Amino acid sequence: MAINITATDLCPCGSQTSYQQCCLPFHSAEKVAQSPQQLMRSRYCAFVVGQFDYLISTHHPDYRQGLTVDQLAQSNTHWLGLQVLATKQLDRIGEVTFKAWYIEDKHIDAIYENSSFVLCEGQWLYTEGKQMTTRAPERNEPCICHSGRKFKQCCAKLTH
Ligand SMILES: [Zn+2]
Ligand SMILES: [Zn+2]
Repeated sequence: MAINITATDLCPCGSQTSYQQCCLPFHSAEKVAQSPQQLMRSRYCAFVVGQFDYLISTHHPDYRQGLTVDQLAQSNTHWLGLQVLATKQLDRIGEVTFKAWYIEDKHIDAIYENSSFVLCEGQWLYTEGKQMTTRAPERNEPCICHSGRKFKQCCAKLTH
């Protein structure tokens, strides 16, 4: 379930800068991501705003396993926020560990993944990820959507 945002809205990847200063130039192919973390953030953001072509084009063809834009567009996920926990970058490979929070059927969960990336002809590409499990924050912890509010006063309300 993609959302509509304008270029001057805050970027959904949680960078606290506007979409046009953050992930939009990658989605519109004006720029290519300069690091695994930039690519990962822009891919999360592409899920949120429905830039499904970008998700295909930044997914290494050897690892796509037949994934199509139509399959991606069927997703009913409502994304809440991204937490980047760790990044590693070498010459031509990199890794990013992140939690991508979402709500589905009033249940908050995250894709908690260690993703791998390779640099191919100047373009970072996602290859594959190792998934882990996590749990929703405690009620008094900061909300995962970067609102600055406590979880109980913010996204936890969506589960009632
Ligand atoms: Zn962004
Ligand atoms: Zn929230």
